[in-house]
Amino acid sequence: MRRKAVFIAVALSLTMCTVSHEEPTLRWLPSGLLDCRDAVTECAVHRLQLKEDEVPILYGLVRLHDDYFLAQEERFPHANDVWFGGCVDGGDQTALVTFCEGCRHALSKYFADGGRLNEGD
Ligand SMILES: [Zn+2]
Repeated sequence: MRRKAVFIAVALSLTMCTVSHEEPTLRWLPSGLLDCRDAVTECAVHRLQLKEDEVPILYGLVRLHDDYFLAQEERFPHANDVWFGGCVDGGDQTALVTFCEGCRHALSKYFADGGRLNEGD
């Protein structure tokens, strides 16, 4: 189950990122913390170095709105303020992610301007 969650996380991050050959620093993580750090070290949109953060993992079926996908790709590809863990609870509660401060600001502005997250919003 954990491998499946990691595979999905890596697959999602690869679709949203420019590719870099730099590997994140490996280290032991506490139990319940899923390593979802990106291999990319710089945001292609904001040209800022990515930082690390622990964020909650959201499990379940999430139907993201098309507007969100488009905005994410163009304006906040590395916001990573939450990690989507897939439909089945993998047991991990938090994820170690990389994020861009410019992307998180852009994500906040997206919601402040009335941007939608889910299909049903
Ligand atoms: Zn950014």
